[in-house]
Amino acid sequence: MKQSLRLGSVRGIALGVHWSVGVILVLFAWELAEYQLPADPGHAGVGDWVAGVVGAVALLASLLAHELSHALVARRSGVRVRSITLFVFGGLTQLEGEAHTPGADFRIAAVGPATSLVLAGVLGGADALARVGSVHGLPTATLSWLWEVNLLLAGFNLVPAAPLDGGRILRAALWRHWGNRTRAALASTRVGRWFGVLLVFLGVLGVLAVGITGLWAALIGVFLYASAVSEEQYELVEDALSGLTVGEVMFPDPPTVLPSTSGADLLALFQWRYRGDAVVVTDPIGAAPAGVVTTRVMRRIEPEQQRTADAGHLAVPLAELVRCRPEEPAGPLLPRIAAHGGHPAVVFDSTGRLVGLVSLADLERAAAWATARRRRTLLRR
Ligand SMILES: [Zn+2]
Repeated sequence: MKQSLRLGSVRGIALGVHWSVGVILVLFAWELAEYQLPADPGHAGVGDWVAGVVGAVALLASLLAHELSHALVARRSGVRVRSITLFVFGGLTQLEGEAHTPGADFRIAAVGPATSLVLAGVLGGADALARVGSVHGLPTATLSWLWEVNLLLAGFNLVPAAPLDGGRILRAALWRHWGNRTRAALASTRVGRWFGVLLVFLGVLGVLAVGITGLWAALIGVFLYASAVSEEQYELVEDALSGLTVGEVMFPDPPTVLPSTSGADLLALFQWRYRGDAVVVTDPIGAAPAGVVTTRVMRRIEPEQQRTADAGHLAVPLAELVRCRPEEPAGPLLPRIAAHGGHPAVVFDSTGRLVGLVSLADLERAAAWATARRRRTLLRR
């Protein structure tokens, strides 16, 4: 997910928000100001709206704290973390790999709901203290809404359905029990799919019974279902890649172009003469690689850009790409490429020469061949 607004970074982890976070900011501020805070719901004053916006921003900060706890524990467990992005359905912590043991998998997942629980406790305590000190009105009303939502967040995330934290906890438990990570992950994504279907069903019932608010549950259900399905695909591809090296799955010796190559020439190359997913763009004298131009960029190119833009402008710079070696295992590339915007990885040999590219499509193709091969050996047995 692309960050529309960067908030900064914590220990090298890029924090940001996707534009869709504006939707929940407005929804929560509105819910708070119009319904939760006023003594006379539906007649909100300026004070209610100020408290509503403050409360909604504080909720986003709680979400960020939840995600940051995942990220920091992941990093301590030796898993690289690229970014945290808040979006309409919550937060997304982009990891560049996976936990190496069931224990680490459990800790990375469990710390999120634990953080939300602690926040609910602290905010609830502050709320109780304020009430004891006879502070009433907007501050206490905002505080009680905040701790309730944090409690709800912890509870919902503990449902054992991937991609929710509870699904990851289930995965860790089954992984320890069965000793097979892929099997455990597939079981937890299956629960995730069913939970998504259940939420859609309940959401539709909700729309019929109480009105439009039920739509929210249905939308979250659709999102969870889709995420569980894509996670399942991902696990299957990664499992199929086990035993293969980068050198075996890469597109070897990709063509190189000068940065001055025109958009029109590049388009002709991709359309008619070349079957790979990216070409290498060199520095101006053609001596060293500087970036890659991908089919994805070329498909999106506007007609006027074909005339004006050149390879130098269309290229994704080398610094933004995953670098790897031919002898490395291919499986771990999948999360790393996904965390780098889906751009292909560049493969360098031990002498520092660029020897190949690996795109997501290359990985999927290799996984499909590996699966077919495995199925044939299974049938022959
Ligand atoms: Zn979480």
